[in-house]
Amino acid sequence: LLGPDGGLGVTIFEEMTTLALQTGAINLGQGFPDEDGPAEIKAAAQAAIAAGANQYAPGKGILELREAVSVHQHRFYGLAPDPQTEVLVTTGATEGIAASLLAFTGPGDEVLTFEPFYDSYGAVIGLSGATHVTAPLLAPDFFPDMDALEAAFSDRTRVVLLNNPHNPTGAVFPRRVLERVVELARQHDCLIITDEVYEHLTFGVSHVPVASLPGAADRTVTISSAGKTFSFTGWKIGWLTGPEGLVSAIRTVKQFLTYSSGTPFQAAIAAGLALPDEFYEGISAGLRHKRDILSEGLRAAGFDVFTPQGTYFVNVDTAPLGISDSVDLARRLPALVGVAAIPVPVFCHPQGAERTRSLLRFAFCKKVEVLEEAATRLAALS
Ligand code: PMP
Ligand code: GLN
Repeated sequence: LLGPDGGLGVTIFEEMTTLALQTGAINLGQGFPDEDGPAEIKAAAQAAIAAGANQYAPGKGILELREAVSVHQHRFYGLAPDPQTEVLVTTGATEGIAASLLAFTGPGDEVLTFEPFYDSYGAVIGLSGATHVTAPLLAPDFFPDMDALEAAFSDRTRVVLLNNPHNPTGAVFPRRVLERVVELARQHDCLIITDEVYEHLTFGVSHVPVASLPGAADRTVTISSAGKTFSFTGWKIGWLTGPEGLVSAIRTVKQFLTYSSGTPFQAAIAAGLALPDEFYEGISAGLRHKRDILSEGLRAAGFDVFTPQGTYFVNVDTAPLGISDSVDLARRLPALVGVAAIPVPVFCHPQGAERTRSLLRFAFCKKVEVLEEAATRLAALS
């Protein structure tokens, strides 16, 4: 999606990955790990295939995975969605987002997101016919401007679509920000759809699920995905949880998007969700180390670095290098130094694009030696 208010073109991720492949650049653009997730999860998928789990799964997902999602939410957050009625398996978080927006919004409705926003939000709000209203996140911490947030709500706001931890900025919003969003959603009687795919990718701060806040559960749909937590982005297994009435409306839409999601991968992810605490602590510790290596390289190259508290993205300001247009730089960077990144303005409407004009996003979910090589290449810029 280029120009979120315009037509639906090729996504920025596709564009930059293609450019990286053409130039042989290190791809720190599209966010996907360069190492697979745990061997036992892969073995569980192979075992499921061998055992014949190769035909359509039930539309709402296999019971084993719905139960595992519920147990996982209880273990980490004390929440207990009913696996029969309050959990839906989706084809990645992407389908969860699309099915939720299509279920609840249409022409005349407003959907409120922070800005910058993940690219599929703008596209699907557009497809639903609703109007996309944004509230800015402000550097250096990328927390929202609370006055602007309040002013962005109206009597037409149907959904506030949150993303925490936040892509592309790497912000993890404090509890007080999330509580205020819940208060505003209650005042305006709107739904909260919260994309928490990076729930386990936080560094030194804990993830607070919106659904765990007072007054939120009855109007909140929470979306997550195995892609990020388990490093299997290509399996496209996601899930969502929420009150029965909301989940059932989303399931109705899902029937006609994909009907059901990859059967053997569901069984494998059910096994993954049950991995011990050390696994979850390990992802966060490993990524934190990678964040620090890449951030140091980016700083040495002359960028201003905004250290993220979550996700696997780090944003930099290119202005100290005398570069004001990150879209132009992102298109030239692969050929220039052999590294690909994503310009932040593409996650914005025009005003936000102006505000973030010199910001660039780098992914650090790559092997340490790859990040070190990227840092060496980027040093040529300064
Ligand atoms: N939401 C956010 C914020 C993301 O960053 C991504 C993917 N990187 C998705 C949703 C999509 O997740 P999935 O691959 O599970 O569809
Ligand atoms: N979510 C990933 C990112 O932000 C990319 C996913 C995609 O290519 N659609 O980089």
